[in-house]
Amino acid sequence: MNLAQLLVKAARSHGDRPAVSLGRQVLYDYRQLAHRTAVLAGNLLVRHGLEPRDRVALVMKNSPEYPELLFGAWHAGLAAVPVNAKLHPREIAYILEHSGARLAFVSPDLAAGLAPLVGEIPSLQALIRTDAPDYGALFAGAETPCHDVQDDALAWLFYTSGTTGRPKGAMLTHRNLLAMTLNYFADVDGVSEQDCIVHAAPMSHGSGLYGLPHVAKGANQVIPESGGFTPEETLELIARWPGATFFFAPTMLTRLINSPALAGADTRNLKTIVYGGAPMYVEDMLEALRLLGHKFVQIFGQGESPMTITVLPRSAHADTGHPRYRERLASVGVARLNVEVGVVDEHDRPLPVGQVGEVVCRGEVVMAGYWLNPEASAAALRGGWLHTGDMGCFDAEGYLTLKDRSKDMIISGGSNIYPREVEEVLLRHKEVLEVSVVGRPHADWGEEVVAFVVPRPGAAITAEVLDALCLEHIARFKRPKDYRFVESLPKNNYGKVLKTELRLRLEQEKKDA
Ligand code: AMP
Repeated sequence: MNLAQLLVKAARSHGDRPAVSLGRQVLYDYRQLAHRTAVLAGNLLVRHGLEPRDRVALVMKNSPEYPELLFGAWHAGLAAVPVNAKLHPREIAYILEHSGARLAFVSPDLAAGLAPLVGEIPSLQALIRTDAPDYGALFAGAETPCHDVQDDALAWLFYTSGTTGRPKGAMLTHRNLLAMTLNYFADVDGVSEQDCIVHAAPMSHGSGLYGLPHVAKGANQVIPESGGFTPEETLELIARWPGATFFFAPTMLTRLINSPALAGADTRNLKTIVYGGAPMYVEDMLEALRLLGHKFVQIFGQGESPMTITVLPRSAHADTGHPRYRERLASVGVARLNVEVGVVDEHDRPLPVGQVGEVVCRGEVVMAGYWLNPEASAAALRGGWLHTGDMGCFDAEGYLTLKDRSKDMIISGGSNIYPREVEEVLLRHKEVLEVSVVGRPHADWGEEVVAFVVPRPGAAITAEVLDALCLEHIARFKRPKDYRFVESLPKNNYGKVLKTELRLRLEQEKKDA
């Protein structure tokens, strides 16, 4: 089934319900949105001469044009290439060229910087600003019928955020994203036409993907006027829109719960915060639960298996009396309904409960492969399983705990140290806002542990106090040998801490010394 059918059907059953809103205002109901996409689809094919299976890039901040462009492209049988608008123009150029996109839709403030690409990239025939008359013209004319596509046709080319090397394009098919959509209802949350999703996180990534289950049920997609996330605006939108769901990176949640604006805010409309994409620390989650109630679901996924590998359901967050409550909060939960998840050694042999290995998964949601990269596809999908590159282990009840990625693991004196474990301990100190632990080369030990600590504003924490905390909770050899108190941590565009950059900083210091 073409994903565009989700919208066609929602428009039939919920035509008068709000479909797209900007800030506090409804812009289109479902009937209007479906009409716009069906007209747009025809114009993409006829006016721009595109053909089914061509790629159309969306280099846009979160904006109300996002849903109509995604669904319009699918309606026409085209594939969408959503690109993170915060990437460097060089990275954007790479993705546009590599994907062979024929058109790129761009946010007004990005247009000038990207305009030269039209001459430079042979496949790219035009760049269309979403505020230009050219864009408006795409919505004039007659509707075109929804194009029939094969289930395994490309729908969304998802470029991985890759903290190292070139991004790879995970090919997500209509079948993959339909499986993701169904699984949202099975494991994450129910949705009705009374609900909405507020896109505070990038729509080129998880938040945009979660637009699908919301369209399927005729729910509203609300785009913040800022096109992004601030705690203040998020709280205003919660007060305005009932049944509000968000997808948050953990750092967004930390910012929200540490915001002074939260005190006195009316959060009764908040239905669900789905969080994932990076580790969520237990202390932060406990505080979030205390402040906002049982509104949380954690997911673990990756571009290659979009939003769908494991889930830590709302009920596990609420089960405070469970003897392993803290361990469960520190886990990423259990395998999703239609996904098999395993842990394997370096020869792809399954490992028993309790042993750490690479997390692998297979199921309908797993990508078809990487665009124009058969070697990487064969490696990632060898033996029919997606190799996630994440290290983890299962407990006896099927809860998966992720260890740090192998490149982040510290080996000191021959012992493995998982930074996450040390970070969890340091965050127990109430004056520690954020922390990241990395390894530094050491002549005798191989590596030694260094902690970068962001104290709360005005707090005076000492290395001695943190060392005492570690002595209380973890083995002596895991304690940081050095503490760096810093104002902030380097993060990528999706809020993930860049440990590579922290390690480089330490290397540089060594060279300079
Ligand atoms: P991306 O493909 O950009 O979505 O990044 C996926 C990666 O983010 C995964 O391979 C994990 O390393 C990490 N990740 C995703 N969800 C979680 C989670 N719930 N907890 C910890 N790390 C996560």
